Amino acid sequence: MTDTPVIWWVRRDLRLGDNAALAEALGMGPVIPVFILDEVFQTYGVAPLWRFVLGAEHLAETLKDKGSRLIFRKGPALAVLRDIIDETGAGAVRWSRAYDPDQVARDREVKEGLEDDGIDAKSLPGHVLFEPWTVETQSGGFYKVFTPYWRNVKEREVAPRRSAPPDIPAPGSWPDSDDPADWDLAGPMFRGADILKKHMTIGEEAASTRLAAFTRSDIEDYKAARDRIDLHGTSRMSEHLSWGEISPASCWHAGVRAMEDGKAGAETFLKELVWRDFAYHLAWHTPRLVDENWREEWDDFPWNEDERKAEVKAWKQGRTGMPLVDAAMRELWVTGYMHNRARMNVASYLTKHLMCHWRIGQEWFEDCLIDWDPASNALGWQWAAGSGPDAAPYFRVFNPETQAEKHDPDADYRTRWIAEGQDDPPETACDYFRAIPNRWKMKATDAYPDPIVSASDGRQKALDAYGAFKD
Ligand code: FAD
Repeated sequence: MTDTPVIWWVRRDLRLGDNAALAEALGMGPVIPVFILDEVFQTYGVAPLWRFVLGAEHLAETLKDKGSRLIFRKGPALAVLRDIIDETGAGAVRWSRAYDPDQVARDREVKEGLEDDGIDAKSLPGHVLFEPWTVETQSGGFYKVFTPYWRNVKEREVAPRRSAPPDIPAPGSWPDSDDPADWDLAGPMFRGADILKKHMTIGEEAASTRLAAFTRSDIEDYKAARDRIDLHGTSRMSEHLSWGEISPASCWHAGVRAMEDGKAGAETFLKELVWRDFAYHLAWHTPRLVDENWREEWDDFPWNEDERKAEVKAWKQGRTGMPLVDAAMRELWVTGYMHNRARMNVASYLTKHLMCHWRIGQEWFEDCLIDWDPASNALGWQWAAGSGPDAAPYFRVFNPETQAEKHDPDADYRTRWIAEGQDDPPETACDYFRAIPNRWKMKATDAYPDPIVSASDGRQKALDAYGAFKD
């Protein structure tokens, strides 16, 4: 322990509990927490970036109670860190490791640059359960299929959770901070940011409360309820996991405790958490997962790649005339969230019925989701499109009508989100019309559109194209 300050470079790890990077910094000297709106984060979609920085502002408040602060800066990560080191005399930087290609490239440059300057620079684990290079097949490669990956990791030890520190020693003097309000991240949202805010829960405490409530009761029925789009049967941890407001290890241990207590759905919950890890495992070993067809043979598939096409617009605006798809796209717009089964359905509809490239959908999700995660989003899209590892085969085309009958049997979800045709539509459905831009020219009193592509025609078109492609 010395008087020389250590920088805790805060990124997608907006938490004090179970944070190895912070814990190591605390063992070295006074800590300067720094959040940088850097070259990678500036490329994030509008809603996730806004949500991310709201999370960072929340963390700043928590830090105040610990006798500390969060310094906000904007600019290339390495240059900003060098400035702060010059201003404060800090001798070391600690951060939570990232596994997606953009962050990996940035971190590599930062580490090399700081080490050239003689600064002690180090990343620590915590964003995933298992480091991607520690999970190997029997022949020594990485996993491309989920089930054997799951078998490999399910009995592994996950390190016990670390508590949040009671206080955080401050440096002798603080460097200046930007005010993130000046970054105006809500401005470019083109939607009612206040409406979206109603559906968000922000911060470490909210994450723990939500996890405790879920593992106390809802986890019991999770296995079946997780597929019901109309129910609130899932954990809703993704928003917090995405920004690191809770560690995956904390979720894992809560799931294991629930399993030991005999709660039926607990193992399925653990398995879903491992899907998240599997996405990072693949993104780490094959970075092309995030922006290219993972199976290169799909490069020749005749996807539509033109975003300006009318059907792409209809899909984004929730007016394809296919109620399950439209309800889901409206839920996304209003809440920044979408149920997993709904994600699978809208992705199948875009890539198969409408024959559009999965990247169009991936980018729209990246713009809208408040739980946006580069690895899970890419894996989800490539899974639905058929171009990914362990993907649904292309000929598995979700039928949005039968899916709706099965997973939204009383049409509660569709009623919740589609106002057209209802005499007294619920608040959620009305909020959609409050949140969309005027230029979309949609009104709740409009007639609900006919399908732009019917379930059966779309399926046939997709299968024909696939048949021709295979030949
Ligand atoms: P729960 O069912 O309670 O699951 C618990 C946790 O397990 C989740 O919070 C999540 O971290 C993880 N998980 C569950 N399902 C998956 C999955 N299929 N893949 C990876 N991790 C999973 N998830 C994101 O977090 N961010 C994304 O950007 C994202 N984009 C997706 C895009 C598509 C096209 C698809 C099909 C799925 C996507 N998912 C994404 C995965 C999944 O839909 C969400 O993680 C889940 O709906 C979040 O709700 P929950 O927290 O209530 O999940």
